[in-house]
Amino acid sequence: MHSLTLKVLSTNKHILSKSSFLKGLQCTKALYLYKYHYNWKDPVSTDDQIKFSNGNNVGILARQLFPDGIDASPKSHKDFKPSVALTKKLIKEGTDVIYEAAFNHNEVLAAMDILVKHNNKWKAYEVKSSTRISTVYIQDAALQYYIITQSGIELEDINIITINNQYVREDFLDIQKLFNINSVLKDVLEMQPLIHSKIIELKEVLNLPFIPIKEIGEQCFSPYKCNFMGNCWKHIPKDSVFELSGISREEQFALYNSGTKKIIDIQDIASLKHAQQVHIQSVKEQQAVINFEGLQHFFSTIKYPLYFMDFESSMPSIPSLSHTRPYENIPVQYSLHYKKSLKSKLIHYEYLAQAGGDPRKEFIENLLRDTECEGCILVYDKTFEIKILQSLAKLFPEFDEKIKNRISRIKDLMEPFEKKHYYIHEMKGSHSIKNILPAMVPELSYDKLKINSGALAMVAFHSLHQAQDLFHIAETREALLEYCKMDTYAMVKIFERLEEIITSNN
Ligand code: SF4
Repeated sequence: MHSLTLKVLSTNKHILSKSSFLKGLQCTKALYLYKYHYNWKDPVSTDDQIKFSNGNNVGILARQLFPDGIDASPKSHKDFKPSVALTKKLIKEGTDVIYEAAFNHNEVLAAMDILVKHNNKWKAYEVKSSTRISTVYIQDAALQYYIITQSGIELEDINIITINNQYVREDFLDIQKLFNINSVLKDVLEMQPLIHSKIIELKEVLNLPFIPIKEIGEQCFSPYKCNFMGNCWKHIPKDSVFELSGISREEQFALYNSGTKKIIDIQDIASLKHAQQVHIQSVKEQQAVINFEGLQHFFSTIKYPLYFMDFESSMPSIPSLSHTRPYENIPVQYSLHYKKSLKSKLIHYEYLAQAGGDPRKEFIENLLRDTECEGCILVYDKTFEIKILQSLAKLFPEFDEKIKNRISRIKDLMEPFEKKHYYIHEMKGSHSIKNILPAMVPELSYDKLKINSGALAMVAFHSLHQAQDLFHIAETREALLEYCKMDTYAMVKIFERLEEIITSNN
């Protein structure tokens, strides 16, 4: 049965905007829900919040490439009418550079980050905080080009400004080198007929008296994860084929559409990879599948005393430190739990940088001091920690030997889970520590922590750069320390659980 929708078109200033148009290209149902059932949207993820705030900062900085422009941004993003009027006025008055120039043609809104007058024509610039140009960015630029030119503005060129990840900052930030300006005029021109027909099609969708019917499909993830999955995917059962890792999305949908909705319904198990077979076995038996031999081999490589180590980093899009590139990981925090022997008490060490300075030397000096006793250093997913240590060794050659020693002692606690030596279906096909912990040590949880993910930790650390309120600073620092400590404590508990499993088998 179709659900009838009460439409509010008459009060809208525009029917389509850049965001709703791109949503419509992904899925017409998503466009309809976005427009008329916005409150059905899933909560905004921390990753999306970070992308949004990053994009804003980069957009403002890129204006310096074309200085002395006039900002036509609207006061409220709910009403672009004043912005469209101001843009018209600025063009008429002969303004050379306009930021957030807004146009409304046939009830479709476009707002261009930077518009620059050139030989009595105009050049348009859309700023992205990304380092590469995606298909969506081209579609976005093509819509903007269509609306701006249909509004009577002659565009000589249209560009996407991206971040140059090869740029290495020296003492001062060089804006010209930080950004890449890429003309996308050729692609944009080729897309104009498509944009024209899509606008007509999407307007028709928005005129429907009911939500368009659209089955779930690969469009739910591409080009972005749709934020109406909470609504459209609620009928998908627990332990569905979408939880089976190691097979492509296409294969998951092929199974689902052929009637194999749940993992236990999968027939042709022999043709699947080992990891998938283990997953299916665990779901069927509703218990852990353990490869004792594999676990024993892993433990034979681990020697007490043990360190459990975790780093947190900051990844600024705009490099703030000398000799760093955009999006380079800057280590700002670590937690270490130390256990001398099986029976000995846990000792905890930690470090958290002060926001604003360059923490790298202090970070490595503290870390080297806190890990100077012999013994294995356990991390969860060693790639990240090793990469950070290697970059610190390059930066501080005086510590090279000691850092190499620490790297040689690193063992990866993710290994037994990645290789499925221990697997239980509650891990939902993942070997991320956030899935392993509740499955193996349910009494321990990140849920009650104020900061409960690496992405949130990054945002919290960034917030300290601007913070003035001493209470807020102290509270945020405490939450950051608690989060990082939990990461290594979780590793200790997971390790102990594996030790118990091995012991009980002997
Ligand atoms: S979840 Fe999938 S089907 Fe539902 S609106 Fe989004 S893309 Fe469309």
